[in-house]
Amino acid sequence: MIASGMLSCYFDLPWLSEAMGLALEQASLAAKEGEVPVGAIIYWDGEVIGTGRNAREGRKDPLGHAELDAIRMASEKVGDWRLDRALMVVTLEPCPMCMGAMLQARIPLLAYGAADPRAGAAGSLMSMDDDPRFNHTIKVIRGVRGEESARLLRDFFDRKRAGS
Ligand SMILES: [Zn+2]
Repeated sequence: MIASGMLSCYFDLPWLSEAMGLALEQASLAAKEGEVPVGAIIYWDGEVIGTGRNAREGRKDPLGHAELDAIRMASEKVGDWRLDRALMVVTLEPCPMCMGAMLQARIPLLAYGAADPRAGAAGSLMSMDDDPRFNHTIKVIRGVRGEESARLLRDFFDRKRAGS
């Protein structure tokens, strides 16, 4: 259970936009490293405790998603697997694997940028955030700087197609 006041500061849109700015920075770094640009930031009581960016190509790791790296870093920092006061901010709607990890970590709140109609599991392809069969639900704030997040991805794939 989340105390309702505890997370209320996160529902402030200017604040969330700024938080998404950090996730977008991570995504840009990923693009520079030749990775699909997705970035994630985890907040705990308003403080950054985890960052991650897609590293699938570089590490040759199918689990190299931004969210999983951020969750690992956050858990280490908090000293607990249970991140029940955390906010996940990620540029792209999480896939089923990452939504699964967020459920495992009991993360109560997710803000994402662009929707992912092909793999998104927070409302697009399926709704793992709000499935009563799980013992935990995740509140989702959609479309925070979604245009910028989508543009990063589009530009990356355009460049890739152009072969540069
Ligand atoms: Zn994922």
